Amino acid sequence: MKLIFLGPPGAGKGTLAAKAVDILKVPHISTGVIFRSAIAAKSPLGLKVKAIIDSGKLVDDETTIELVKERLAQGDAQKGYILDGFPRTIPQAEALARFSSADKAVNFDIPDSAVLERLSGRRVCRKCGANYHAVFNKPKTAGVCDACGGEIYVREDDREEAIRKRLEVYREQTAPLIGFYRKKGLLLDVDASPGADEVVGNFRKALGL
Ligand code: ADP
Ligand code: ADP
Ligand code: ZN
Repeated sequence: MKLIFLGPPGAGKGTLAAKAVDILKVPHISTGVIFRSAIAAKSPLGLKVKAIIDSGKLVDDETTIELVKERLAQGDAQKGYILDGFPRTIPQAEALARFSSADKAVNFDIPDSAVLERLSGRRVCRKCGANYHAVFNKPKTAGVCDACGGEIYVREDDREEAIRKRLEVYREQTAPLIGFYRKKGLLLDVDASPGADEVVGNFRKALGL
């Protein structure tokens, strides 16, 4: 199954994707995770995108499309994928349609108030990218990743100024994708506002699993 996860920053896309991987047996491909690994590795891509990402703006379409095109060409993505955080603009969605046909776009339906609460408490593992939350999903040992023992930190773009910018970018550039996929008959709405386990249930139901 080839799925696109569509929703505002902090909607819980990465959290659900990590669980859906076990259900669907397809890779979770997150452009945000790929960019953050590149930044951590100080690769040419990382050096190019760091300031843009920290400020809450989008990386340019050309760079992002090329990155995803290459990733989807790899063997593990042939049977399916969960694309989390891509596409984020209409040109990205049009480009994706030229090199891969997604089966469904899952729209994370969630009020702004919940998004702010989730983003402001988000914590991330520096080593493996696992998501935590200061209130809703604490690691067993404070500051240490359950999965890999890595250090847990607050993303630079989860600070107030960048959060505001990202929500504005979402409304202007990404929200139009809801209509884009609805018109194609691919959109599935999932209520993403309850707790994480209930969201998994809503997702299963929406997909008829
Ligand atoms: P969130 O989990 O908050 O939705 P992501 O981890 O998906 O954020 O993305 C973090 C940042 O990486 C974005 O704010 C943006 O700067 C950049 N980014 C990720 N995906 C894309 C994309 N498809 N197009 C452009 N920039 C992107
Ligand atoms: P996205 O990938 O859409 O930006 P994340 O999966 O990173 O969102 O989730 C944002 C924050 O909200 C994280 O701190 C995560 O632990 C928390 N979170 C995710 N899903 C839920 C949920 N259903 N209920 C409460 N908190 C959640
Ligand atoms: Zn980790």
